[in-house]
Amino acid sequence: MNKHLLIPLFSFLLLMGFMNISLAQENTTTREFDFSSINSDSVPADPIEATEFYLSSVKQEQKDKAAAYFEGDYWLSLWNLLYLLGISWLLLATKLSAKMRQLSERLFKKRFLGDIGYIVQYIIITTILSFPLSLYQGFFREHQYGLSNQTFGTWISEEFTGLLISLVLMSLLISLLYVILRRVKKAWWIWGSGLMLFFLILAMLISPIVIAPLFNKYKPLDEGPVKKVILSMARSNGVPANNVYQFDASKQSKRISANVSGLLGTVRISLNDNLLNRCTPQEIKVVMAHEMGHYVLHHVYQILLVMALLIMAGFAFVNLAFAWFQRRFGTAWGITGIEDIVGLPLIFALLSIFFFIIAPVNNNLSRLTEQEADYFALNLSQEPDAFATIALKMVEYRKLEPGKFEEWLFYDHPSGRTRIYNSMHWKYEHNRIRELEIKKASDN
Ligand SMILES: [Zn+2]
Repeated sequence: MNKHLLIPLFSFLLLMGFMNISLAQENTTTREFDFSSINSDSVPADPIEATEFYLSSVKQEQKDKAAAYFEGDYWLSLWNLLYLLGISWLLLATKLSAKMRQLSERLFKKRFLGDIGYIVQYIIITTILSFPLSLYQGFFREHQYGLSNQTFGTWISEEFTGLLISLVLMSLLISLLYVILRRVKKAWWIWGSGLMLFFLILAMLISPIVIAPLFNKYKPLDEGPVKKVILSMARSNGVPANNVYQFDASKQSKRISANVSGLLGTVRISLNDNLLNRCTPQEIKVVMAHEMGHYVLHHVYQILLVMALLIMAGFAFVNLAFAWFQRRFGTAWGITGIEDIVGLPLIFALLSIFFFIIAPVNNNLSRLTEQEADYFALNLSQEPDAFATIALKMVEYRKLEPGKFEEWLFYDHPSGRTRIYNSMHWKYEHNRIRELEIKKASDN
């Protein structure tokens, strides 16, 4: 689903893959690219030269286009934050937020229902106010860069489905958070983090079986040699074979993707039809080996643990900052305290600031696990050249050759250049290992 719809709502949950499910999404497009001319026999042995060899096979104009799309995302994340802050300020300063609470109190006698009444108004108003930005990001911009397969009708209907899901889940989550705010008072941020973790686990658990099928059809892999290779790789590493699925992503976009989703009994590896239709069997093997790496190395649980700590830090920040705003603007905005739901826009604004600031922490943690999965994929697939070409194919949407600091700050996956270099280095060292073994054998 399109994550932009929910950004004004719970952007930090989305950062964690709350609705977007996949912890490990690999997106790439092959449109306009044909690497069949690359002869893997002519790849230089030296890792640095080999990296240059691959990088030079992409036209400069393609590199520029990818850079423009990717750098646009840096700015969009800032615009999204400012936009949300603007909406929050509007709701508070005009006292619209206070009026929304009055309305829901008049309609519902019980406090819990009154909170839900407020939350529903809040979600609908922020969705409408942020619609121009969602429309640009999710629809026009994707078409502008040739990444989308959706008509306006299918796009808007998916947005609507996403809105309904968020109305149900967010109403429940936020109203429970306010129960905690009223009951626990001072230690709310600790108990609140526990609630968020519980919801996160619940959402991850149900998303492959309840949420993802609302957007795509999932089925076991089609029979054929590709399936045999994938299942052999899976069995050789203890991944249950019935956890590998394919889905029809081509109805939404041209991107090739695969992911690991779910938790405990619902964990599954899924690859999309674009990947099956547009990549060589070697490349499919590499991508699937990477996803299996996430599974085998238990990245889902590692990331969940880190997220729990980050949420707690975020709530602690909200706890302090809210008090500061309360003292200065409480009367003007009609907020009586942090347990007053009129202050919800302020809580969202503060959380968004927090998660915007710590985004590089998230990116670095994510990039580290991605790199681990990359090495796992190289070891399992033994296909360094296919690894390099699949990294090249991401050029359309991920800038290929960023600066060092840029990669550190913004990249949640290693850049194309880093990935190609790592695979060429892997290949070089593995050739050496083989040569040394041969020498030893002939010495005997
Ligand atoms: Zn990954």
